[in-house]
Amino acid sequence: MKPVIALVGRPNVGKSTLFNRLTKTRDAIVADFAGLTRDRHYGDGRIGNQEFTVIDTGGFEPDSTTGIVKEMAKQTRQAVAEADAVVFVVDVRLGLSAQDSDIARYLRQASKRIFLCVNKAEGMSESPLLGEFFELGMGEPHPISASHGQGIRSLMEAVLEPFEFEDEEEGAEEQAPDGVIRLAVAGRPNVGKSTLINTWLGEERLVAFDMPGTTRDAISVPFERNGQKFELIDTAGLRRKGKVFEAVEKFSVVKTLQAIADANVVLLLLDATQGVSDQDAHIAGYILESGRAVVLAINKWDAIDSYQREILQRSIVQRLGFLKFAPIHNISALKRQGIAPLWGAFADAYASAFRKMTTPVLTRLIQEAVEHQTPKRSGHFRPKLRYAHQGGMNPPLVIVHGNSLEGVTEVYKRYLEGRIRAHYKLVGTPMRIEMRSSK
Ligand code: GDP
Ligand code: GDP
Repeated sequence: MKPVIALVGRPNVGKSTLFNRLTKTRDAIVADFAGLTRDRHYGDGRIGNQEFTVIDTGGFEPDSTTGIVKEMAKQTRQAVAEADAVVFVVDVRLGLSAQDSDIARYLRQASKRIFLCVNKAEGMSESPLLGEFFELGMGEPHPISASHGQGIRSLMEAVLEPFEFEDEEEGAEEQAPDGVIRLAVAGRPNVGKSTLINTWLGEERLVAFDMPGTTRDAISVPFERNGQKFELIDTAGLRRKGKVFEAVEKFSVVKTLQAIADANVVLLLLDATQGVSDQDAHIAGYILESGRAVVLAINKWDAIDSYQREILQRSIVQRLGFLKFAPIHNISALKRQGIAPLWGAFADAYASAFRKMTTPVLTRLIQEAVEHQTPKRSGHFRPKLRYAHQGGMNPPLVIVHGNSLEGVTEVYKRYLEGRIRAHYKLVGTPMRIEMRSSK
């Protein structure tokens, strides 16, 4: 599993700048989805061969506007408790503050691996100003400049040191499909995850195998539905109750991110009575980044009237437009309405995520697309698309070969994507297109 790194620190020290820098390798993938790149709080990054997940805890809403550590949002505390390491960010230009000391005190008792990171230190790595941060008792400060990209590699090498050389080929991305839908139910607190899961578990008379118990007590429950094998990956705190499981526990960001990474299909639940919140958008953004197949369900549909329904549907298009490939189901977990069709949606999303595409067919699709609409000339050359092959599954990756492909615009890529999607009837999965020029 990818290690989880939590960024902690008071406002304005540069956490989100650091977050963006750590996750920037992924930005290329998501840059074109309106509303997604700005203001994200969960993301994946990579240093060398080592992948990791970053949580910017600054993004959690504080319980209180006045307080610091004591009132540090519950979610922040929980993220710190569950993370593999904490990067504590301070600001060298503002110097040490009482708030920093409070956070340090809190972190010390959390007994985590903590890395003190002194930001905005461009041009001052030898500065005596750094010395004052020793007072925090968090070991040697790592000077960095998040905005200039300095010191970040050496900081992260220290943070990731214990995880190096881990086998990384585990991600579902490259796994051959074994016909088992690994399903994660994601959503912020109180959207109805436990209610829905308990409905399922109650119906299913689960055969409760012994828990595979991977790291971090992740639980997954195997079950079958209409002949289709599923494995439910825990996000809702599944507890064993005799021979069956029961969903009880409350929301955990870390568990959610790991379950998403582990899944091949994610059910993202929204709460109709709450609309689309920032946290929904963050989770959605993380799912997209991870490339998992997605089914959206708006729960508590029973609790809003037709006027509210209309407003909600509009705000979903607006705020979660980047998931427009995902089917949307209106459900009530409580009243057990609209739930049955979800099973088919999971199966379709799974089949789409693992669709096999052959080189001859992809090449023909690309050539037809070009005949229908040639890509624009950029600079001296017109991009020449020659052939295409499939480079991966979950999500489907199509690699297009040709010449001068750097000039292919995002708009054109989306046009190609549309044609490929239509041909293969892809639903519920993101897909990626990569251009590979030969000289
Ligand atoms: P957050 O509230 O901790 O997430 O802080 P932000 O990332 O929003 O940064 C706060 C301010 O500090 C912004 O104006 C950033 O441009 C600035 N900033 C971030 N990193 C650096 C840095 O390395 N050097 C300098 N000089 N400014 C920085
Ligand atoms: P979780 O935190 O996501 O696991 O959410 P829970 O399953 O604990 O549900 C939170 C609250 O929403 C509980 O009071 C549920 O009874 C209520 N709830 C769940 N599903 C529905 C639904 O479909 N309609 C309505 N009206 N309430 C629901």
